[in-house]
Amino acid sequence: MQQPVGEQLAGMTAELCKTADSTFQLEALLRPDLQDLEEYTPIVPTEVLSQKLGIPAGSLIKLDANENPYGPSPQVRQALATGDHYHIYPDPDHTLLREAIQSYVGLDRAHILCGNGSDELLDLVMRLFIRPGDAVINCPPTFGMYAFDAGIHGARVVEVPRRGDFTLDVAGVEALFDGQPGGERPKLLFVASPNNPDGGIISGHDLQRLLRLPLVVVVDEAYAEFSGESAAHLVPEHPNLIVLRTFSKWAGLAGLRVGYGLFPLQVIKHLWKIKQPYNVNVAAQVAVLASLADVGYLRANVERIVAERERLYASLQAVQYLRPYPSRSNFVLCRVMGREARELKQALERQGILVRYYRQPGLRDCIRISVGRPEQNRALLAALRDFA
Ligand SMILES: *Cc1c(COP(=O)(O)O)cnc(C)c1O
Repeated sequence: MQQPVGEQLAGMTAELCKTADSTFQLEALLRPDLQDLEEYTPIVPTEVLSQKLGIPAGSLIKLDANENPYGPSPQVRQALATGDHYHIYPDPDHTLLREAIQSYVGLDRAHILCGNGSDELLDLVMRLFIRPGDAVINCPPTFGMYAFDAGIHGARVVEVPRRGDFTLDVAGVEALFDGQPGGERPKLLFVASPNNPDGGIISGHDLQRLLRLPLVVVVDEAYAEFSGESAAHLVPEHPNLIVLRTFSKWAGLAGLRVGYGLFPLQVIKHLWKIKQPYNVNVAAQVAVLASLADVGYLRANVERIVAERERLYASLQAVQYLRPYPSRSNFVLCRVMGREARELKQALERQGILVRYYRQPGLRDCIRISVGRPEQNRALLAALRDFA
């Protein structure tokens, strides 16, 4: 396992402090709530793994981060190669981007604000609503960034765990508001749909119930293109609904960092005041415009991935030590029976096949497999059958 950057630095900082005034305590200046914050452990970069395993990066079968195995549209490469505005600051209002996104989602651009990935928008939403001590609701198992960002903003995380089948415990969320004085109530609720890591979606009925509560519901639709379901059209009628989208997964732009949110007008006017002016770089803007001009190509890849997901799911069901969960996204979560999920992940890794393993409670016996190209999925399945 790679040593996190924070740990690498810890030793160095201690050294540096010895040279300073002995009464000076750097630690005393740090925000106390951040000192004990756990580092977010992202996946190990391909280049690092490639060195460790002695397998060329190009031969690794990377099914661990839900990236698009087909990459971006060829139009994106073309547009990036011929772009000539890289020395000019990007448009802080994302004018052309929002115009193109308006046509793509069918929602007026007044509701649209773009970010450096939807990750930035999650952070921005927290900045807008959360003072230290305010509560946010998280429904694990789910995407780790909600709890991570909550920690950075000093929020209190109220967990309402999902049920055994990963559906939301809506009654559990509602119960948090029974007899609670206004000041103590949670302010935000984050729900990914499709949910990462299981791929299930929120039902329309559940969403309506959540929207009746006195809090802001953030629906993270990073994978909506794979499910074909979206709450985007509900945003104009609901002052407490935020929908986040991204180009990372369906459009294959994860490395360029660009996403967008659909916000109620009462919310978006404040977000414009607090966002970093140049948050979406020129290359990302060029890439999105080229992608949205070539939606047909990208949609065909989404359809390929969805068809391949169904094939993969059926094949995984036939692996006797795996129990895959049905997914509406571009990945399949599997419970591993009668052996260690972590060891399975490591055994696959030694063959150059990367899947996601979790250390969190409730997921320690699971692996998550991103849907790859047909030949990648075949290689994965062959390896899994070999281990039987
Ligand atoms: C991948 C992912 C994102 C990250 O999106 P970016 O736009 O790349 O920041 C957001 N939410 C979920 C649930 C994801 O899995």
